[in-house]
Amino acid sequence: MEDKPLMLDGLDGYQFEELIAKIMKKKGYQNIRVTQKSHDVGKDIIMEGNNNDIFLVECKHQHFVGRPIIQKLQGAMNHEEMKHPDKEIKGIVVTSGSFSQEAIAYNKQIGQEIELIDGKKLKNLCNELKIVILNGKIQIITNNSFENINEKQPKELALKGYSKIYGNQEHKAKVKSELVYNPACYIRYNVSFDTYTSVGLIDSYNHSGQIIIDGVTGKELDEHIQGFYFTSRFDTDEIQENSTHKTIPYEFTENDIEEHAVNKITEQHTHEVSYTGNNNVSYSKNCTPKRRDIDIKEFIPIYLPLWTNEIAILKMNYKQQFYVKGEHNRLFLIDELKKCKICERQEMEYEKMSICPECGRIICKNHVKIDYLDKKTPICSIHAKSVKIFLQNKYFATKENSKKYQEWLESRNFFQKLYEDKVAFSLSILGVFGLIWLIISWIK
Ligand SMILES: [Zn+2]
Ligand SMILES: [Zn+2]
Repeated sequence: MEDKPLMLDGLDGYQFEELIAKIMKKKGYQNIRVTQKSHDVGKDIIMEGNNNDIFLVECKHQHFVGRPIIQKLQGAMNHEEMKHPDKEIKGIVVTSGSFSQEAIAYNKQIGQEIELIDGKKLKNLCNELKIVILNGKIQIITNNSFENINEKQPKELALKGYSKIYGNQEHKAKVKSELVYNPACYIRYNVSFDTYTSVGLIDSYNHSGQIIIDGVTGKELDEHIQGFYFTSRFDTDEIQENSTHKTIPYEFTENDIEEHAVNKITEQHTHEVSYTGNNNVSYSKNCTPKRRDIDIKEFIPIYLPLWTNEIAILKMNYKQQFYVKGEHNRLFLIDELKKCKICERQEMEYEKMSICPECGRIICKNHVKIDYLDKKTPICSIHAKSVKIFLQNKYFATKENSKKYQEWLESRNFFQKLYEDKVAFSLSILGVFGLIWLIISWIK
């Protein structure tokens, strides 16, 4: 990571200034103000240090910075000094490129009162402050994650589920687990505002809420996932620096995410109010909170641990994906061990599933045949061997079983065969009774 260049190409001059302002904030400067876009006074940022000093910062997002820039800033510093004779005025020039020899020499000549930060220094500064820049924006950095389960658990979870599937003893399942941390931001807020019309106050609104914004899409997280993480405890863990797991980077800055959250909150808390006007006519009005009505109480960048299990059984592959929170809380997004490989029906319980020993397909009750001879082997409707009697099919797990049965069947007489076919047998019983009834009614 150390050797990657700063990716500032997508930035315009103004965005570059904002970036520098953020870096300065992280460095501990206070009261940072980015001056107007269209100024030409030799300072882009004004900020305060810890010792009653004022810093003027000039930002140059360009390849070369020459002497005139230093001179201009010096002029601005003199001007500021007159305004604040009690304070010490200092200057900084920051560039994404480098300074000309002439500029450096001039700065030495005037006593090096201006700090020069070139692209290389800027990069070191970012590394030092643990600032990651993507497409010219400072990304959120956090190691905060919802509490995770131990490494063995996802595998055990897959095997435990598999052990409940009928016929599992025939073949072992191989499980590969992977943990990915998905970036998100937890936001707790309060919305409070009054709405007035010509008749006076018509609505007083006050609500607290929480929202989780996806750090990749910038959208509100799926409500099931939000619900999962909101309920009960809010335990967090640090992701270890040497962790081998994948951490998906945030695509947004804090400001971006806050803006997305505010838009969502505004939308969620806009409501309609009915009131009666002075003319006794009923009206309705949309009450919409303004930005200042929304108070962000907490803003926590936090990773959501998502496990993926890849399960191989014979030639078949199954996927499980679940979010975790603490040791016993999981939210499954995908569980293919409960999904029929033939009809794709998703069941709620592993106990409803069977596994075909021939192909490894996990199947639902509608697609499993139990071997008629051994009365226990489950086989998928694709591989089941069938023997037709009259109306009924009997199914077998193997060719041998079906052959064995066929031979036995051929040695039976017609009535024994009929008895074997439950469907045909039932129908013929009904037929015989029907005939007897006919005869009786004819006799009468
Ligand atoms: Zn099925
Ligand atoms: Zn099969």
